[in-house]
Amino acid sequence: MHETEYDEMAREFSLRVGQRAVCGRVQGFPLAISRYAAGTGGVYVAMSPDGLAGAEGLLPRLREAYGVSDVRAGGSSASFRFLRARKPLAKIGAFLRQEMPEFAARGWNREFLCPHCRRAVRGEAEYLLIREELLVLHPDCAGPYERAARAAWEEERARTLSRESAARGFLGALLGAIVGAVLGFGAMVLMSLIPYFDDWGEVVGNAYGFLVALGAYGGHDAFRGRSDRSRTARAIAAAAIAVCGTSAAAAAWMAGRSGAPMFGREFRQHLAVLLFMGGLGAVFGFVEPFGGSRDSEAEENTATRLSI
Ligand SMILES: [Zn+2]
Repeated sequence: MHETEYDEMAREFSLRVGQRAVCGRVQGFPLAISRYAAGTGGVYVAMSPDGLAGAEGLLPRLREAYGVSDVRAGGSSASFRFLRARKPLAKIGAFLRQEMPEFAARGWNREFLCPHCRRAVRGEAEYLLIREELLVLHPDCAGPYERAARAAWEEERARTLSRESAARGFLGALLGAIVGAVLGFGAMVLMSLIPYFDDWGEVVGNAYGFLVALGAYGGHDAFRGRSDRSRTARAIAAAAIAVCGTSAAAAAWMAGRSGAPMFGREFRQHLAVLLFMGGLGAVFGFVEPFGGSRDSEAEENTATRLSI
C-alpha cells in the first residue's frame, strides 16, 4: 500500500524510487525520503550552513502544521521526522509543496558543504545516505568519507558484540520461554476450571506458543544475548526445549488428573495436541512481531549511495 503512495509522491515531485529511499531534487534541494520508515517517515534535506543553523528553530511551526516530531541538523542536511503524523506520507507531500519554496526563498539551497573537506560542492556531486543524514560530497571525497564511516560503524558494532554473549542469550531465551509456557498453561488451566470461561481455554491454547516466542526473545535480549544472525536460531532452540518440557509435564498432569496412567496412551494424545498447539503458535510468534526477520538487517551497512 505504501508502495503506491511512494510511487505517487515520486511522480508528483519527479523523484526516483530507490531501495532505501525515494530521492531527487525539489526546489534545488537534494533530498531523500526514507523508505524503511514506512508509516512514520523521515525527510532528509541537504541545506547550506545557514539553512542547517536555522532549520531546528522551525520545529514548533512544523509540528503544528505537519506533525513533524523532530528536526535534526548535521553533516550537510537537516532531517525532518514525522513520527507522530497520522498520515505521514500525505503530511510529507504537503511539507514538500509548501515548505520547500519557502526554504528556497531563504537561499538555503545556495551551496552545500562537503562534510569530508568542508569546502562548497560545485558541479558534480556524490550523495550518501548515512543513517539520518543526506551528505553531499565531492566525487573524490565520497570514497574516503564512506570508508571512514564504515570503519567507525564496524568499530561500534564490534564494541556492541563484545558486550553481548551468545551463551547468555540462549540461557535468557530458555528462561523466558519457560516463563511464557508456564504462563500460557497457567491461563489455560485457570480458564478450564471456571465454568463460564472454559471454552476460552482453546483461545488461550492458541496464544500459548506466542507467549513462548515472546518469552524467548524477551529473555534473550534481557540477558544481553548477542544480536547477530543467530539470534532467532537461539530463541527457536530455547523455545523448542521449553515447549517439549512443559508440554510433557502438562500432558502427564492432565492424564494423571483423569485417573489414567501418567505415561500411557492418554498422555501421548495430550502431548501430541500440546506440541501441535505450541508449534503452531510459535510459528506466528517467530515472525515479524519480535523482530526475527530483522536480525540480519542489523548487520547491513548503513551507508548508501543515492543517484540524485
Ligand atoms: Zn570534499
